[in-house]
Amino acid sequence: SKVRIYTLAKELNLENARMLEILDGLGVSYKSVSSTIEEDTVELIKQIVAEEGTGSADGEAQAAAPAESQATQSQATQSQDAPEQQETPQAAQASATAVQTRDDVAPASKAEIPHRAPVVTIMGHVDHGKTSLLDYIRKTKVAAKEAGGITQHVGAFEAQTSKGKIVFIDTPGHEAFTTIRARGANVADIAIIVIAADDSLMPQTREAIAHAQAAKVPMIIAINKMDLPQANADKVKTDLTQLNLVPEEYGGDLIVVPVSARTGEGVEDLLEYISLNAELEDLRADPNGQFSGVVIEGKVDKQSGVLATVMVQEGTLHVGDFLVVGENYGKIKAMMDSAGGRIKEAGPSTPVQILGFSEVPTSGEKVSSAKNEHAARDLIASRASDRRDAEGAQVLRKLTLEDMMGPLTTVRTVNLILRADTQGSVEAIQGILARKESEDVKINVMLSGIGAPTEGDVLLASTAEATILCFSVTAPGSVTKIADNKGVDIKSFRIIYELIDEVDRLMKGNVEPVF
Ligand code: GDP
Repeated sequence: SKVRIYTLAKELNLENARMLEILDGLGVSYKSVSSTIEEDTVELIKQIVAEEGTGSADGEAQAAAPAESQATQSQATQSQDAPEQQETPQAAQASATAVQTRDDVAPASKAEIPHRAPVVTIMGHVDHGKTSLLDYIRKTKVAAKEAGGITQHVGAFEAQTSKGKIVFIDTPGHEAFTTIRARGANVADIAIIVIAADDSLMPQTREAIAHAQAAKVPMIIAINKMDLPQANADKVKTDLTQLNLVPEEYGGDLIVVPVSARTGEGVEDLLEYISLNAELEDLRADPNGQFSGVVIEGKVDKQSGVLATVMVQEGTLHVGDFLVVGENYGKIKAMMDSAGGRIKEAGPSTPVQILGFSEVPTSGEKVSSAKNEHAARDLIASRASDRRDAEGAQVLRKLTLEDMMGPLTTVRTVNLILRADTQGSVEAIQGILARKESEDVKINVMLSGIGAPTEGDVLLASTAEATILCFSVTAPGSVTKIADNKGVDIKSFRIIYELIDEVDRLMKGNVEPVF
């Protein structure tokens, strides 16, 4: 049966990086360390590792392998194997030298940058238990600063787990995720999609999945409410498979963890999977580098004034630093960690509450630092002039060859969100669209659903530059208004073939210059 790469690495006591080198050497393709590999490959790797072990102190794997092969292999195979075994130590030596040389050329620059904690967002359908899960983790994993101290909601918190720190964005749902992404920032490293075991996939589950996919953020599925007698994890897994998300047990790459936010069952496993995933993603940030961060939340506090929660992404913040957000700046008067304790500095993957902005910054805005007030003003002035230039340029912009021909080398993708009156219509339209794809233009239905398009659809469409196509449903006025604001096209049709004609036009898209 198939085996995950990291599972095998662990079993063979190998670094994940080394395992990937071996796979590269064999020409085996994989997406990440959580990809699965075929049984044949597994056997091959075991052999390689056993052979490499020759003469090394760590002879455990090596000792086991020959015993096994002697028992099963015929004499003929053994003699065939012999020359290979002679060659391999040399090959191993060669690869060791290669690694060393690489280290010499680039003095391990990435490895010197320290790891940072993963930032996790929790999404899913309403009532599936996002808030409960966050509450459970907060209650069990956040050390209380003061006895009875009630911490206010700041948009993020840090959980201390046995495998290290994990930062949770605690505005559940995809609103936080999309508003942040809509401004071009990406805060989350991992998305937990919560699905209730008694309800399985629901419209917002699909939306959440589409959002994570659009942002290319790895997903972990938490099947919640496992304590309920009617919990049916198998149904959830089967339903996921229909979205081409294949759980590990079914031979795919998707990590699915059954949990209960009520009893706490499985939550520890979930946290471990998060840490494991973070390790595989090899998340690093330089605390000594240039500061950059993103606004998680901003608000006005009656007593303290403007309070903003900022996620430090690179560098370190200090009390007294000047920060620039958009075309505003402020000086940090005080900083609090997410539990409300005063701090003087904050490094990567730390959510901090900052006192010192004069205007409330918006979630998703990027934050930079400046050496002093003068530098902050300069930065703002240059941003303002860039913005004016860009506004002018947009009016004057001439059509380039690429505008007319489309990117010459890459395959173009038409992103669509599909809304229709019935499941039957959705499937009929998808069936037709699937046949329309060509080598040069792919059609990506990011989300399809029954009923009128929602505000969430518009946000997704705006970040993914998708068009919303409606069949026999119309968008409510409030949604149309947001779409207008964000420059998202919503088009409604009553006849399937008119909708398909529109897709044809979108597929031709860049080819026809628009004047
Ligand atoms: P959200 O809308 O996704 O944030 O969902 P909530 O956390 O508000 O939970 C919705 C309802 O489900 C609440 O009544 C919770 O008490 C209940 N709930 C959440 N998690 C569990 C669970 O693991 N088991 C059970 N039995 N109920 C749960």
